[in-house]
Formats: sequence, C-alpha cells, structure tokens
Amino acid sequence: MEAFQPAAGSGYRLLPFRFGRLPTHPNEILVAGDSGRFTFLTESDFSAFADHRLDPASELAVNLEGRDLVHRGDGPIPLDRHAIAWRTRKAFVFEGPTLQIFVVSLRCHHSCSYCQVSRQAEDDTSFDMDDATAQASVDRLFETPARRLTVEFQGGEPLLAFGRIRSIVEDITARNQAGHRSITFVLASTLHGITAEQLAFFREHRFELSTSLDGPETLHNPNRPLPSRDSPAHATVGVAAAHGRTPRPRNVPHTQHRDRQTSVWANANSQNQVPMWHFSSEAT
Ligand code: SF4
Repeated sequence: MEAFQPAAGSGYRLLPFRFGRLPTHPNEILVAGDSGRFTFLTESDFSAFADHRLDPASELAVNLEGRDLVHRGDGPIPLDRHAIAWRTRKAFVFEGPTLQIFVVSLRCHHSCSYCQVSRQAEDDTSFDMDDATAQASVDRLFETPARRLTVEFQGGEPLLAFGRIRSIVEDITARNQAGHRSITFVLASTLHGITAEQLAFFREHRFELSTSLDGPETLHNPNRPLPSRDSPAHATVGVAAAHGRTPRPRNVPHTQHRDRQTSVWANANSQNQVPMWHFSSEAT
C-alpha cells in the first residue's frame, strides 16, 4: 500500500493498478486500473509513473488521470466518478443472465472423442427434453430482466428433437408478444440430415446456425466419427444446405480451421442473403 501513498511533493497519487507485458507489445508495459481503463507505457514512463517522478502537469499525467490510474493534486479522490466507471463496467450484473441453453436431447449420431455430454444412442428418446421441463425452462428464461436474450439449442444432436425446438420457439415467440425482448435463436448442431422443412423454420425465426468442422477429412473423420465413417461428407452437405448450395462431397473447408473445436456460424436470416460466417470456439 505504501507505493500508493503520495510521495512528498510529487503532486499526484497512484490509484490501484495492475501491470504486465503482452507478447504483442514487447517494448511496452500494459497498465490497467480498477475501472478497466488501461494504457501502454514505455519502460521509462512506467518507472517515472510508479516512482512518483512524473510532472503532474505533463500530458502523460493528465492522460493517466483520465484512465483512473493517478489522481493529481492533494484534494480528495473523486469517488463519484470512479463509482460511475465501475457501475458502467459492471452493468451486466444488474441485467441478469442473457444466454439460456436448451439441451433438447442427449441423442447423437456421432461419438466424438472429446464429447462433453453423456451422448446417448440415436433412437433412445427417453433422453429427450419433456414438455414440463421445456415449459419450466421458458418460465426461467422470462424471469431474467435482460432486454436482449440469446436462446441456444444444443444436444447431443438437437435436430433429433426438432419438434421440441419448434415447440419451445413457438412458446417463446408467443410469450414475447407482451415482453418485447430482443431474442436471438442459435442452433449448435452437426447439421447431420438437416431438412428443407427445418431450414425454412430456422430462416423464419432468424436462427444462427453453428456447426463444428475439425479440419481436413483425415482429422474430422476420426475426431467426430459416424458408424458410416463419412462424417466430413455429412458436415459438408449440412453446411451447403444451410447456404442453400449444392454440396461438394468430401470437401471440408479446412482453410477456415482454427483449432480442433472451431465452430462455423452460418447466418440463415434470409434465403437469398449471402450468409455471414462467424467463428467461435464452441463444440456442438
Ligand atoms: S456431435 Fe456433439 S453431442 Fe454428438 S458426440 Fe460429438 S460432441 Fe458429443
């Protein structure tokens, strides 16, 4: 704490901060305050700042004060200003949860080596979400005060319980007539066997579709095996269908590969729209 006390005659006090180096800025030091504001300083500027050797009238000292890293002068620290910065940064605490995930089925065609769910056989419907659970889950969704919500469907393979997805979306849409929340629907799926009827439904409700491509066929096939040993072809067909294109069999777009669980998001907002692709690190 002594380091934060004003040095005699220095003209400024240090406010709590953290510092460190980033590989992307080898010649600078990252300095971040409690409010989340930050800056990069050269080593000599950082030493001067931390040792109370900065001229308080200098541009750098003024800049650091604007980032809540120092307080110039002997007056009281303006706690109101810091409180506002904190409140703005932590506003999400008052908004409540904004993401709700519906695991509509644990069934799946695949048997991925890194599967994180208790994946069940494709024909065992006892592992599907039942009506009462679905309705209770939608109840929970509307308990959050958040104005913007993301509703994501996962599995297993959620398309195996497409009827449940449909009923939940229709329930949410009906209940939201009064709620006026902004709701984004997301499907995290292998897209295995996706049908024209399902795609039409996803377009109607402006779903974002997320699927996983593990890289070239030689990697995707063993990582995400199907009994038929042709999971890359199914993934390609699914992605092409989401785009409204004819698939090129056995051609996984591995140039978009980032790591073994790279997900590719295809925006299915409009049948005629060229889809946007988004990348995330979620697995399906
Ligand atoms: S596709 Fe998803 S749910 Fe199915 S086995 Fe693979 S990781 Fe598990």
